[in-house]
Amino acid sequence: MWKKRGDFSKLTSKMSKDILHNWEKKSAENQKQYKQFLTKADKNKVLKALPEIHEKAFEKIDCLKCAACCKNYSPRFKTPDIKRISKHLGLKEGVFIEKYLKLDEEGDYVVHSKPCPFLGSDNYCSIYEERPSDCARFPYTDEDVMLKRVPLTLKNATFCPIVYFVLEELMKKG
Ligand code: SF4
Ligand code: SF4
Repeated sequence: MWKKRGDFSKLTSKMSKDILHNWEKKSAENQKQYKQFLTKADKNKVLKALPEIHEKAFEKIDCLKCAACCKNYSPRFKTPDIKRISKHLGLKEGVFIEKYLKLDEEGDYVVHSKPCPFLGSDNYCSIYEERPSDCARFPYTDEDVMLKRVPLTLKNATFCPIVYFVLEELMKKG
């Protein structure tokens, strides 16, 4: 949501029905095709096509009407994120960690409860300007992460309509 979240209220485009119609079902059904495409794709061609498709996806899909990522998953809070956010909140780093975070199985700090405690009922992020870098980069649809971490892209396509849209558009281009 993580991208340009603050700008979404200015967008006139809504999650159009054609894109969203049954997208979760279609995404689940197309997982094998996505995997095949991502594994065999011409990296240079994909990277060249991504910026335009990424922009198009964010114009068509309104994260403020979704927030599935913030509701169900946690970003990693790396040391610079913790420093920046705790300072912003006027909390000592230890207090911030104690209040909001826990260590996951991989030794990364993540939020200790879901939805993310910084997600408002209006789906805005209360620490948007200071949000973790994972949040700013998600859903990685303008990065080579899409190709480098195929299992992650496939998982993201199951709950993020932007990833679904980008994959479908990439596959149309062949
Ligand atoms: S899951 Fe995707 S579409 Fe939904 S809020 Fe997150 S980035 Fe936006
Ligand atoms: S900090 Fe929480 S609410 Fe803000 S963008 Fe990240 S996951 Fe979403």
